[in-house]
Amino acid sequence: MERNRNVPLKSRGARSKRLRQPEALPQHLVLLGAPGVGKGTQGELLSARLGACHLSTGDIFRAATTLNECDRTPAITRALEHMQRGELVPDEIVLGLLTERGNRLCCGAGFILDGFPRTVAQAEALQECLAQHQIPLDVVVSYELPLEKIVARLSGRRICPNCKAVYHLEMHPPKVKGMCDVCGAALYQREDDRPESVRVRMEVYEKSTAPLVEFYRRDDLLVSISAEGTPEEVFMRTMNAFKKRQTVAR
Ligand code: AMP
Repeated sequence: MERNRNVPLKSRGARSKRLRQPEALPQHLVLLGAPGVGKGTQGELLSARLGACHLSTGDIFRAATTLNECDRTPAITRALEHMQRGELVPDEIVLGLLTERGNRLCCGAGFILDGFPRTVAQAEALQECLAQHQIPLDVVVSYELPLEKIVARLSGRRICPNCKAVYHLEMHPPKVKGMCDVCGAALYQREDDRPESVRVRMEVYEKSTAPLVEFYRRDDLLVSISAEGTPEEVFMRTMNAFKKRQTVAR
């Protein structure tokens, strides 16, 4: 359970009544990184630790794939066509989402944005929206992994459509081939994880999203983290970087 950050913790067995400084962990985060670096998994882990709402634009678009065709708006139909080809959904559609759901950024416990922003235009729109609501952005985490490892991760990734558990054919295979360990559903490969879409997604990332690293570095919000290793190792690295940043800021 999330503890109240305003209440200082007593150090364990500290009869001297010395109080530990409360950890001021970030509450308003953006996660950047190429497809396949594990932003979604880190978003979940960080959300569980920080209590902030995990908001993923990719999840919103994927959820729309389960709608009947007649329930899809023209904008969503267009968005899904772009997504299936591995391209970015056009900015005007994504910014429409921000207008519709921008109030979710006011979530009292904070937010973790995963997959948004992905272009400079989206980053500027986010800045404007946050300024309107007087919400600061605390940190932008950029997860980094060499290209050949990204391709290997994406091509072997399999997902449970039911409970969203993520597997990898070699690094984290399910106990029974093709079946989710947790709920028994048949695993599937995301359409945009197929090799032809992966190539497009990597090109799009380099062209449109990589410039955001510089964008946020200029504002001194950027923390770069290696995405090598297990999700738990990457998570620990991230938390350590937050604590170090906090110490430097004091
Ligand atoms: P993700 O799960 O974040 O990798 O997103 C899957 C796909 O959804 C992307 O390849 C894009 O087609 C689309 N998408 C998600 N977020 C955005 C965004 N902020 N801007 C444009 N397209 C997006």
